[in-house]
Amino acid sequence: MRASTLVKELLDLPGIGVSAVAWHGQQLVIDIRLRSRRLTCPECGYSTKARYDSRPVPSWWRHLDFGVHVVIVRCLLGRLECPAHGVLVQAVPFARARARFTRDFEDVTAFLATKTDKTTIARFLRIDWDTVGRICERVVAEDLDEDRLDGLVHVGVDEVSWKKRHNYLTLVTDHDAKKVVWGKAGRDTKTLDAFFDDLGPERSGEIEAVSMDMGPAYAKSVRAEGHAPQAVICYDPFHAVKIVADALDVERRKAWNELRAAGDTEAAKKFKGARWCLLKNPADLDPGQQAVLRKLKRRGGDVWRAYSLKEAFREVFSGDLSVEQAAELIDRWISRASRSRLPAFVKASKTIRKHRDGILAALRLGINNARAEGLNSVVRLIFRRARGFHSPEAALALVMLTCGPITLQLPHEQRSIRAG
Ligand SMILES: [Zn+2]
Repeated sequence: MRASTLVKELLDLPGIGVSAVAWHGQQLVIDIRLRSRRLTCPECGYSTKARYDSRPVPSWWRHLDFGVHVVIVRCLLGRLECPAHGVLVQAVPFARARARFTRDFEDVTAFLATKTDKTTIARFLRIDWDTVGRICERVVAEDLDEDRLDGLVHVGVDEVSWKKRHNYLTLVTDHDAKKVVWGKAGRDTKTLDAFFDDLGPERSGEIEAVSMDMGPAYAKSVRAEGHAPQAVICYDPFHAVKIVADALDVERRKAWNELRAAGDTEAAKKFKGARWCLLKNPADLDPGQQAVLRKLKRRGGDVWRAYSLKEAFREVFSGDLSVEQAAELIDRWISRASRSRLPAFVKASKTIRKHRDGILAALRLGINNARAEGLNSVVRLIFRRARGFHSPEAALALVMLTCGPITLQLPHEQRSIRAG
């Protein structure tokens, strides 16, 4: 076998011939030529035999390593004039538009990004984390399943923070397929409006239920004309319990401040330490925490009343109650909390009353964000890793690669499918 044929086989890139092979330090530089005489637009796939000019454009891509050596593929490309996109450098069959890496290299990178941490990837592939982010974006843009927004019936909308503060993404989950199907930076009504724009009125009309948190932004978008006003809005019991737990925390902090103001620092310190004892599920407390809880009970007062209210609410959702039984308990709880004279609970009771039907709808349909909670914890894990990314789009791309409707395949797996 001739050396150039052997190199061509080793590269295993579609549509090329090999002209020359040379070493440049640790780099194996391979000059190739494209077999097809046609020039293709990288944006739309339009192809022509007509070159725009005779000036060759030197181009290069990094391919998969050969042993310890970095492999660089070089080629002289031509320019074409696309009726839609103007004068452009022609596309190549082995790399994505605007990429400096071959498709194989990018697929391996995207695969690793879903499986391991950033230090490992950067060291193993010898590229920086920002580059990984851009690669993920390109792979998602190409491989995202076009049909993923078809047939959505039960969806969940969540806001997730992807970078320390004030950097939010809105994610839409298909509850039935348990996949993230859509996402966008932001968390207001407009953000979700963009989802319905992508969906179109026909597919929006097929949505039967949307679960969400209790903020007004998403509900406003769902109810808008042409979106999904027919859908039942469901409020996750998990979010409802959190509102009540937050109310308890307000009461605890108030008691702590009062004790501190009264100069009882010893008692104040205990209250501060009691935070987790109060907020955790009592079944999850260790013996020390249980003892703190018993002390609080003996002490009585507002904090203990607040605690009892919180536990009563949480228990509505912890058992196997029917929706009717849950409705009765919630109503009883609302009336108890509204008469509690604990300002935070009076306020919480109003919020729960306002969202009562949505909470019960979530129970009735058995769809709630808590069911996707497993998915959410995966998403949070990804975001923690994606913090070094330059943009929310890159973070979103990593979420789509990991929890979205994409099946990532490594180059050798794609080859075996092709081989049949
Ligand atoms: Zn074009």
